[in-house]
Amino acid sequence: MNALSANSKTIKGVVPISPAAARLQRSLAFLVVTLPFIGVGIATARIFLYGVNWWEIAIFVGMYVVCVSGVSMGSHRHFAHRAFQAHPRVRSVLGAMGSMAAQGPLAYWVAQHRRHHVYSDLPGDPHSPHLHGGGVVGMLRGFWHSHIGWLFSDETADWIHFAHDILKDPQAFRIHQRYFWWATIGLVLPTALGALATGTLTGAWLGFLWGGLVRIFALNHASWCVGSVCHLFGKRPFETHDHSANNFWVALFTFGEGLQNNHHAFPSSAAHGLNWREPDFSIIVIRVLERLGLVWDVNFPSPQAIAKARKAPA
Ligand SMILES: [Zn+2]
Ligand SMILES: [Zn+2]
Repeated sequence: MNALSANSKTIKGVVPISPAAARLQRSLAFLVVTLPFIGVGIATARIFLYGVNWWEIAIFVGMYVVCVSGVSMGSHRHFAHRAFQAHPRVRSVLGAMGSMAAQGPLAYWVAQHRRHHVYSDLPGDPHSPHLHGGGVVGMLRGFWHSHIGWLFSDETADWIHFAHDILKDPQAFRIHQRYFWWATIGLVLPTALGALATGTLTGAWLGFLWGGLVRIFALNHASWCVGSVCHLFGKRPFETHDHSANNFWVALFTFGEGLQNNHHAFPSSAAHGLNWREPDFSIIVIRVLERLGLVWDVNFPSPQAIAKARKAPA
């Protein structure tokens, strides 16, 4: 038991989970961490032995784009932060795409994420790299916890405390309930695409390998970098009460999520990139959807709010 879980009873909204639920959660986390890792090992060996086909890369990229968009625009900006309103069909599609990423059911995702904002880099934050001692050892332990270790915790965010709106919203709750169905579709779809591309069982297996396992590995590590790398390394243009930082490379591969300092300064903003140098593909898509009338009430911080929050030059 780490210091965080020892304190969990005293932190509002953070609750211990039963031994049986903890075992189930750890088992699922173990599968989500190890199976994609094994898949990457097999894919790498195959590249050296046989090379790689264009359609394997296309399935990987296609599935990655679908799932990262679902997490960024759906689970995060729409459902967790209400940064924009959306047509019911858009909500369903974003919810399904986010669930296909295999990062947990919607109420779990939203509750843990809101908890991260409330306790950012303080005791109670599910994945801060800053609470694990000083020196190089403390930093390495913190990095491990914030990147992967937190998935194996024996406490969790109270869904009723942090995600009551998801539980009360019939459409959002349906998305939550169908998580395992959509996560399975996230594996079946690339398998079917591989079979269609080649008409062979080998093609189906390679579709599963690239669009399923390798894609889950790539997207999960990119997403986990938001909690680990982006609370350690990067630019901090805004005053926030945490160590959040804007990391260009993580932002590029997470469609804007890696701009953590901007996001912690303006959590309800639909835009994480606040200028053209900050990569935020999601806000481009949100603006297109807004033009089409499919999303509305898109939140942006005012120029005055941005100026006020910006750090004074040193
Ligand atoms: Zn953060
Ligand atoms: Zn957030």
